Amino acid sequence: MSLSSFYRRTMNATYTKLSNGDWGVLCDSRPNVGDVVTVTKKDKSTKQETIAQVWTRGDKFACAIATEHGGKCANCDHHSNHRARRYDTNGIEGMVCDQCARLPKYELSFG
Ligand SMILES: [Zn+2]
Repeated sequence: MSLSSFYRRTMNATYTKLSNGDWGVLCDSRPNVGDVVTVTKKDKSTKQETIAQVWTRGDKFACAIATEHGGKCANCDHHSNHRARRYDTNGIEGMVCDQCARLPKYELSFG
């Protein structure tokens, strides 16, 4: 058992509208990117969401939710909610962020 799962934090998390208009999660303590948090809906049911990005909002933390295609960019390591499948110069497949998806193939390196 890893320490992080042993000391699993319980935090209050609810849904919130982010400044970009997307639905996000409002947490009362700072989660890490990649953490799975249990979010309580208005009807008290819960859903698990993966944290994609964290911003400070007052004394709370507004977080973007990772989508199915979200995750770490294979090229620049930044977390992105909208990744595209690309192949680098060595033919290695990787999921890249919007910015890296616009780069020519010779600038991509997933090794
Ligand atoms: Zn990238």
